[in-house]
Amino acid sequence: RYAYVNGRFVHHDDAAVHIEDRGYQFADGVYEVIPVHDRRLIDEGPHLDRLEYSLNELRIGLPMSRRALEMLARELIRRNAVTYGFIYMQVTRGVAPRDHKFPKKTPAPALTMTTRQLPKPSAEMEEGYSVVSAPDMRWKRPDIKSVSLLPNILAKQKAAEAGCQEAWLVDENGKVTEGSATNAWIVTKDNKVVTRRADNSILSGITRLSLLKVMEREGYELEVRPFSLEEAHDAREAFLTSSTNFVTPITRIDGRAVGNGHPGILTMKLRQAYIEQVVHGEGG
Ligand code: PLP
Repeated sequence: RYAYVNGRFVHHDDAAVHIEDRGYQFADGVYEVIPVHDRRLIDEGPHLDRLEYSLNELRIGLPMSRRALEMLARELIRRNAVTYGFIYMQVTRGVAPRDHKFPKKTPAPALTMTTRQLPKPSAEMEEGYSVVSAPDMRWKRPDIKSVSLLPNILAKQKAAEAGCQEAWLVDENGKVTEGSATNAWIVTKDNKVVTRRADNSILSGITRLSLLKVMEREGYELEVRPFSLEEAHDAREAFLTSSTNFVTPITRIDGRAVGNGHPGILTMKLRQAYIEQVVHGEGG
């Protein structure tokens, strides 16, 4: 298995970065996860758009042209024979003697890539996930896909310890922002799909964006607004979206059944439509 590290493909076991890489010392960097399905990258364009957005917000340069990034990603997937899974890309501000402010002499941004092979998406996801709620303890710019993920890690660990697959983060107003690594959605009793606006308070999920397009095409009723944890508890259906989970039904929140406790009908229709149009389609 290979990894890409600052200009070279190296064996995964030998892949290493400098100890004064600012990503390592300060979490001064960003990342992307692009899903691979049947050897193809899904929504590669929007993922690279978001990478550029995150880098711009932090004033880190794009390490190379988009064309070059795309070629490297494809080459790593080919070398590692990834069929299903994802490619992970990370860009940090680079190596410099430890000092919080940006280095005077701008270092070359550090670029690394790894791949992960995962089982082909299975029926398990379609049985529905359980989630627990947890306070959203993150900084005020989760729209930047920063490698600083401690609050997300702690929330996900809480979920795991509760036998759940995800944690839903709740802000100080009692509203659900998003999951620790997924976007959050509910379906109301009158069949309206509700999701929060992608402002600075959440990561603008690529799966979320693609699903919104699918919904528009298919004429689903949508409400873009925050929803409270209480509303989620009482919702008819709930689901999450992410690159590796696609559209996944949620059947329990904080131990309580959502709706009838089975994956929602509308949710499963959306999952099907997403898979047909985005995963098997042109890639959105
Ligand atoms: N929200 C957070 C905090 C995430 O880390 C992720 C990504 O994995 C998502 C949402 C879903 O985004 P995407 O659909 O681009 O995978």
